[in-house]
Amino acid sequence: MKSSSSGTTATSNRASGAGWACVRHFSEPAPIDCGKMGPMEPTKYIWFDGEMVPWADANVHVLSHALHYGTGIFEGIRAYETPQGTEVFRLTDHMARLHQSAKAYNMKLDWSVPELVEAAKEILRVNGLESGYVRPISFLELGAIGLNPAGARVRTAIIAWKWGAYLGEEGVLNGIRVKVSSWRRFPNTAFPNAKATGTYINSILAKMEAVQSGYDEALMLNQDGVVSEGSGENLFLVRGGVVYTPPIAVGCLDGLTRNAVMTLLAEEGYEIVEKTLDRSDLYYGDEVFFTGTAAEVTPVREIDDRPVGDGTPGPVTRVAQALYADLVAGKLGKHQDWLEYI
Ligand code: PMP
Repeated sequence: MKSSSSGTTATSNRASGAGWACVRHFSEPAPIDCGKMGPMEPTKYIWFDGEMVPWADANVHVLSHALHYGTGIFEGIRAYETPQGTEVFRLTDHMARLHQSAKAYNMKLDWSVPELVEAAKEILRVNGLESGYVRPISFLELGAIGLNPAGARVRTAIIAWKWGAYLGEEGVLNGIRVKVSSWRRFPNTAFPNAKATGTYINSILAKMEAVQSGYDEALMLNQDGVVSEGSGENLFLVRGGVVYTPPIAVGCLDGLTRNAVMTLLAEEGYEIVEKTLDRSDLYYGDEVFFTGTAAEVTPVREIDDRPVGDGTPGPVTRVAQALYADLVAGKLGKHQDWLEYI
C-alpha cells in the first residue's frame, strides 16, 4: 500500500476480492510531472467558463466527448515579467488562433477573442503570477457521445502556471539532441491545420519514441518524407547565411514564434526562405533551431547522432535567441503590439 497525494491510503481503485472499491476522491491535487521542468506547482484558481474555480475543483465528467474522441482545441501562451509589468506575448493572436481552430472543427465558442484575452489576464492576476504559461482549452463535454458531436456542450477553461524552459535550461544554452521520428506528421488532408487536442496523439508518439531512445526531441517528416516540424516546435535551418524554414503547406503549425522569429531576423537583414527541406538537408545545415511558445528559441546541436555544424549553437541561432529574449522581456523597443500587459 502506498500513500496517495491526498493522504488517502490506496494502491488502486480495484478492490481485492469481489466487487469494486468506492471511488477515491483526491482532496489535494496530485503532482504533475513536467519532464525537464520539474513538477508543476498548482495555482489557486482556474478560469472555467467565466468563473474562478479552485484548482482541485476544475474537473469534467468521464463521459465528456473530448475525452473519448479528442474533440478539443487549445493554445499555449507565455507571460513574461518585464520592467513595465507582466506582458502576455501575442495573447490576442493566440486567442484568434483558438477561434480559427474552433472554426475548422465547427465548434461554437461562447467567448469572443477580447473576452478570452481579458480572462487570460485575469487568471494570471488572481493567481499572482508575474510570468508563466497560459493554457486555454475549449472542448466538447456532455450532451453527445456518438461520433456526431451535435448537442455536446462546449466548455472553455484557461489554466495558468509557472513554467521554465520546455526543453531544459541546458538545452537552451548548449542545444538539444534530436532524432527523426519513425512517425510521420499527419497531413493537412487528414486534419485541418489547427491546434486540436486529438491530433497531438501523433506528436506524443513521436515524442515518446525520441525520449525513450535517449533524445530530447523528435523531428517529424510528412507523408512525402520532407521535414515538417518537431513534436511541438517549428524548425529553422541555416546554411550559407540563409535562413530556411519549411512552408506551412508541408504540414506544420503556423507558429506564432516562427512568425516572430522570421520577422526579427528579416529586420536584421537575414534572407529568410520558406523552402521544402529533406532529411539530408538537416545533415548539411550549419545551424538548426526550434521555435515555439514553450520552447522559445532552442538550438539543435545534434540530429540523428550527427553534429549540427560544429555541434554548438551557431551565430544566427544566438541572434534569434537574443532578439526573441529581448522582445518578450520588453527590452527590444519594437513590436510593442505583441506585448499585451495584464
Ligand atoms: N508546432 C507544433 C506541433 C506545436 O504544438 C507548436 C506549439 N504551439 C508549434 C509548432 C509552435 O507554435 P507557436 O510558436 O505558435 O507556439
